[in-house]
Amino acid sequence: MQSLKELYKIGPGPSSSHTLAPKRACLLHIQEFGLLDHYVIELYGSLSLTGKGHMTDKIIIETFQPASVEIKFKLDWKEEFPNGFYLYGYDRNHREYKWTVFSIGGGSIQIKEKTLNYNDEIYVETSFKEIMDVCKGKQQHLLDYVNDYEPDLNEHLESCFDVMVDCVKRGLSKEGLLPGPLDVSRCAKKLYQKGIDTSSKEEQDRIKLMSYAYAANEENASGQLVVTAPTLGACGVMAAMVYYYHNDLGISKEKIIDGLKVAGIFGNLIKRNASISGACGGCQAEVGSACAMSAALSGFLNDLTDEEIEYAAEIGIEHHLGLTCDPVGGYVIIPCIERNAVAVLRSIDAMVLSKNLHPIKDNRVSFDMVVNTMNYTGKKIAVELRETSLGGLASEFDVACK
Ligand code: SF4
Repeated sequence: MQSLKELYKIGPGPSSSHTLAPKRACLLHIQEFGLLDHYVIELYGSLSLTGKGHMTDKIIIETFQPASVEIKFKLDWKEEFPNGFYLYGYDRNHREYKWTVFSIGGGSIQIKEKTLNYNDEIYVETSFKEIMDVCKGKQQHLLDYVNDYEPDLNEHLESCFDVMVDCVKRGLSKEGLLPGPLDVSRCAKKLYQKGIDTSSKEEQDRIKLMSYAYAANEENASGQLVVTAPTLGACGVMAAMVYYYHNDLGISKEKIIDGLKVAGIFGNLIKRNASISGACGGCQAEVGSACAMSAALSGFLNDLTDEEIEYAAEIGIEHHLGLTCDPVGGYVIIPCIERNAVAVLRSIDAMVLSKNLHPIKDNRVSFDMVVNTMNYTGKKIAVELRETSLGGLASEFDVACK
């Protein structure tokens, strides 16, 4: 598995695969060849079909400024990975510098013509069982396991924590329309107020938690800075949980950062053995993965055992299996924002269920089993329902949105 720095990344919304990943590839190209005179970008797969709504063209043009950039939305992609683009750079002598870029989920990229060192696998273990065998052998916890491999994570995760908290705070303070033609208004601020006005304490907590997810996702939909956890489209689940535990329950930043490490193991295992890309595996890969990570974070912060944390994460993903990705008009708004709000509540339920079920019965379904199932299921989801906006909810809406 790769570093957790490759799982948690700070970047501009609305989509890790469609904004963060192309931006990273363009910046790397500039780093390697300098800023050239002219660029032609051919987008394929989900990048082509939903690139407009996901602001892919905008981020590429911005990154290459002031060079001239031509963006082409193409359909006849022949490469092995479903989501990618050709980047052609031309200098003043018309010499061509071509890269084939794959957007593999969560803002991560692969470049056919270049080996990237941040794709190195630094964790030897590739399943939860193997990880627990190491932990049992060394009589250590999941947190120690991460610290052994990555003793230098704190600074990076502190920045991620700050961005998560800031994006919720900002989102709670804003009103007005979200970008794009869908005519959707921000509602985090009003939802939060509804929570404050509610007399039932239990309902108040739930509404506040959902409003935090709305806040983070509305910032994401507006192209603002958020954190991949594990993706930008699913950024609201973990951000809401982090904000809730820190702001409402007074849990320290240090303890939450430790929780991000433990939750990261589960996101990393899904990334390694299935997918965190909606274009590859549907929304189970994005919001489903975020729910599993959030259940693990919540489990850690509630002092569950490592076995109970695994159970919570497993419940978090098991009940998202088969979830499709059909963003209306290609915008990360409907169903994405509401879906994050629902998932953060589900992650709390998964934690509570694990805590109370584990003393009563063994879990017959391991986290590894669910990840394998998720990989299988993702491949069976029709291409229309894997971030192409060609079917499902997306096709129920006016196609003029595209
Ligand atoms: S439906 Fe899910 S996977 Fe698809 S764009 Fe929205 S959040 Fe991402």
